[in-house]
Amino acid sequence: MPELPEVETVRRTLNNLILNKEIRDIDVYYDRMIRTNTTKEFKDILENRVLKDIGRYGKYLLFHFDEITLVSHLRMEGKYFIKDLDMPKEKHEHVIFYFKDGTTLRYHDTRKFGTMDIVKTKDLFKENSPLSNLGLEPFDEKANLTYLKHKIKNRKTPVKGLLLDQSVLTGLGNIYVDEVIFLSNLHPETPVNLLTDNDLENILENSMKVLNKAISLGGTTIRSYTSSLGVTGRFQNELYVHMRKDEECKICHTKIEKIKVVGRGTYICPNCQISKM
Ligand SMILES: [Zn+2]
Repeated sequence: MPELPEVETVRRTLNNLILNKEIRDIDVYYDRMIRTNTTKEFKDILENRVLKDIGRYGKYLLFHFDEITLVSHLRMEGKYFIKDLDMPKEKHEHVIFYFKDGTTLRYHDTRKFGTMDIVKTKDLFKENSPLSNLGLEPFDEKANLTYLKHKIKNRKTPVKGLLLDQSVLTGLGNIYVDEVIFLSNLHPETPVNLLTDNDLENILENSMKVLNKAISLGGTTIRSYTSSLGVTGRFQNELYVHMRKDEECKICHTKIEKIKVVGRGTYICPNCQISKM
């Protein structure tokens, strides 16, 4: 599943390839992917518009046109391909944007979980927008200790659950949450009400560090997701615990274990990550 660094990698690549292109036509082969509009409205709104910028918030890609934004979430397996007009349609291409210059942008999704919404750009963070309930990105300077404590209030959820909750911090998924918790020397089952200010500061700092490093390496390429635009992420080589069951901890040489926390496969070093309970 693509997380913030992989989506950011897709964003940067697309920004280099399709900016300022004008949409001539759109084919939608799976109507349910378009959530806020009928397929006809979706086409009517976007056709003849010029793509002005591609942004990102958390794991959402934001295709900005004048006044409106197409909000795209890749979910489990969504990918974009840029192909020439005459390339045949593949089975899992569900939305094809035809540009006036003869190229196409194709949304490919084997699981069909991805979504597309059209939102007025000025209302991107307002009610009814898919972004309305998201928390701050870890890079945001407002994402500080006060913010995190306010979000935790009296919750007793395991720290892993807190960091997966996109309404607290947005952009971290299973891979990066495991890494952030390891680097913060915490056990993933630690109830968040037991975290000290110092633990929370570490979490914030490590979230930023891990995401920035992953972005700089083009994301993580593991069997669950590969980007489609010719970019192979290299962060998998930097992972301390995630997907490293039975391998040695890079710090203390203890064998990494895989456990389940909040229903998710979770990798820990049982020596570096001692439970506070
Ligand atoms: Zn260790």
